[in-house]
Amino acid sequence: MNLIARPWHLVFFVGFVAYTAIRGAYARQTKNTVKVHRQLDGLEKFALALVIPASLLLPLAYLFTPLLSFADYDLRDVAGWIGLAAMLLSLWLFWRSHAQLGNNWSVTLEVRQGHDLVTSGVYRYIRHPMYASIFLFSLAQGLLLANWLAGWCALATFTVMYVLRVRREEQMLCRHLGQPYVNYMKSTGRLIPRLGGALVDNSDGRGQE
Ligand code: SAH
Repeated sequence: MNLIARPWHLVFFVGFVAYTAIRGAYARQTKNTVKVHRQLDGLEKFALALVIPASLLLPLAYLFTPLLSFADYDLRDVAGWIGLAAMLLSLWLFWRSHAQLGNNWSVTLEVRQGHDLVTSGVYRYIRHPMYASIFLFSLAQGLLLANWLAGWCALATFTVMYVLRVRREEQMLCRHLGQPYVNYMKSTGRLIPRLGGALVDNSDGRGQE
């Protein structure tokens, strides 16, 4: 079984379980909130239809069946160590962004009743820490699984999703949260902190920790 063929595969699987557990815990918390706007259009569905199989089904199919072994290649241990570092950073950022976004989180583009603008914690520096953590996790997946399909499809498909989604998400938040979000955009970078960006606190204190 590929799961135990290389220690790095096992490292990936432990990280994958932790990632799924973090998402599951926070998804349960937001289940009963009321949505005032939902943007699950064709583009969103297309992006989700690419990302979900690539980030969930392909790695599991690879680890537990021989179906994808034809796309294996050799990977040096140094790639595994870099992958492990990316995985640990990703899990920390994924956890903190979920904790700080609280009930404002959603799988797709949504605005909830009483939607808070979160500008503290990891959101103080970048506007999309959760997407940054998913990029890091996808990179770790490529570096830990020595398989072209199970390893790299997640990074490729999430890049497509990010490009399709990020501008639309920001436009939606500008429309619904108004000037405070516009100000917040001026002081932060999308995935990398903006050099010299003035740190402003636009939250009204209702954001969750
Ligand atoms: N793009 C963010 C959040 C991803 S979850 C990140 O990468 O961290 C997607 C939902 O988060 C969107 O539907 C949007 O309503 C909400 N959201 C994004 N940024 C937010 C913010 N700063 N404050 C409150 N809600 C936010």
